[in-house]
Amino acid sequence: ALIFGIETSCDDTGCAIIDSEGTLLSESLHCQSLIHLRNGGIIPDVAQDLHRRFIEPTVEETLNKAEVSMNDITALAVTLQPGLPLSLAVGMKYAKHLSRKFNKPLIPIHHMEAHALVARMQQSITFPYLTLLISGGHCLLALVQGVNKFKLLGESIDSAPGEVFDKVARKMKLRNVSEYSQMSGGQAIETAASKATNPHIFKLPLPMADYKDCNFSFNGLKTGTFLHLHKKEKEHNIEADELIPEVNDLCAALLMAVTRHLVHRTQRAMEFCKTRELLSEHEGKLVVSGGVACNNFIFKNLTILCDDTGYKIFRPPPKLCTDNGVMIAWNGLEKWRERLDIVRDLSSLDIKAVSPLGENLIPNVK
Ligand code: ATP
Ligand code: FE
Repeated sequence: ALIFGIETSCDDTGCAIIDSEGTLLSESLHCQSLIHLRNGGIIPDVAQDLHRRFIEPTVEETLNKAEVSMNDITALAVTLQPGLPLSLAVGMKYAKHLSRKFNKPLIPIHHMEAHALVARMQQSITFPYLTLLISGGHCLLALVQGVNKFKLLGESIDSAPGEVFDKVARKMKLRNVSEYSQMSGGQAIETAASKATNPHIFKLPLPMADYKDCNFSFNGLKTGTFLHLHKKEKEHNIEADELIPEVNDLCAALLMAVTRHLVHRTQRAMEFCKTRELLSEHEGKLVVSGGVACNNFIFKNLTILCDDTGYKIFRPPPKLCTDNGVMIAWNGLEKWRERLDIVRDLSSLDIKAVSPLGENLIPNVK
């Protein structure tokens, strides 16, 4: 079998082809991030226009690289949820068009499930496992019991960590530093934080410290960072395009606070799984994925937690942590192997902007 994956849920047009052994034959990715960086954020209409412009060339390039034609493809996998509706619609329409034209079944994919499963492409990670998905739009802890069997343990009650990094980086004017100008906000903050000399001059509190659930909250850290930033800007009489001298320290303080929160909630999830006997105590596995998982400081601290709790930790390579077509093709293959969600009646398929990973097992509790 050859599975063709299509991803357009946010600001990346991604395609890939994977064979029945799980070998990647080709991939192609058109990133819009630099354009959105210039606009100061994603404008949905702009993202949709770019997807429309690049979907066909990206599909063609992927076929050419693998030296196959659409006739050789067994099934198409496409992200239908969650994401920006205008962006998702481009991928769905194009996938339906290809499905009709070449008479191929469609496999609908949940973007966050794909983030959680792609680690299995290169490493043997058996179900069940715990997953921490941290990205620009999400922050969630879930139990993965099978290819389409997910139990949500907790999620952010406000913003996502990547979103906070992106907003803070913009407010700090990190893009004015040429070294950071091409980087995502998260990447820029990680690099700046590594140059900090006195991160402890800023104190950011641990969010939801009294809550015994596995939910997250990042707005307090965002606001706290802004307050420190404004105070320092006033203190130094900072001009419009200048950075505060303590910018590296403030980045480090934010990164440290986000990391502590992520580690704390993940530890809660591990305790919950232990009490409920949801994961075997000697075979605990944690898969970290999503764009923010590229952060080595966060990953290092999660690794320390896993060493303490006897968990094995996994993370896909950075290219597969951020949005890509490969994870969609891989998720398609995982479903194909188990004969799950292989759809021929296209009228039953539609996009869904908001779509949680199953019911939350743990309510918000103090
Ligand atoms: P979602 O998957 O929730 O729909 P998304 O698709 O926009 O969101 P991804 O492409 O998975 O998100 O990740 C992008 C996010 O990852 C951005 O917010 C970016 O700042 C963040 N990011 C990328 N690299 C790093 C890093 N090294 N450290 C922290 N954050 C990072
Ligand atoms: Fe994503």
